[in-house]
Amino acid sequence: ENGRWDSIWLAGVRDKEPETLFDKIISGEIPATIVKEDDKMMAFKDINPAAPAHVLVIPKDRNGLTRLSKATKEQSEMLGHLMLTAGEIAADESLGFGNGARIVVNDGKSAGQEVFHLHIHVLGGREFTWPPG
Ligand code: 5GP
Repeated sequence: ENGRWDSIWLAGVRDKEPETLFDKIISGEIPATIVKEDDKMMAFKDINPAAPAHVLVIPKDRNGLTRLSKATKEQSEMLGHLMLTAGEIAADESLGFGNGARIVVNDGKSAGQEVFHLHIHVLGGREFTWPPG
């Protein structure tokens, strides 16, 4: 059965990636303000918000996904789920969103990525300019 072999292969990939602090947020070792969660993803408030509303959406099982440019076709469903979740959060007025949002993935150090566990930034509650800095 494919799923089983996929997870064995992916476990091997995952073992080669160092743990990041997001793994500690998933395990509860580091506390976070969780705004949405299911078996596949977690969304929590950024500790150093770059806008009045700033939420990070991450996969619980990183599966080697340190950054978006490492994503594979096998991860399409999970990536779609993260993106849909980001869209739901961007429409959630109770979180300070609802009037437009900037949804960002920083891919790599030169783009500002600091935590190498894929995450989608959802920013809102203010006006944004283009191009980004
Ligand atoms: P990156 O720069 O990798 O795209 O984004 C990492 C984000 O994680 C940053 O916006 C940073 O403020 C946030 N962050 C770093 N450490 C913590 C933490 O311990 N808790 C929370 N909630 N966010 C964090």
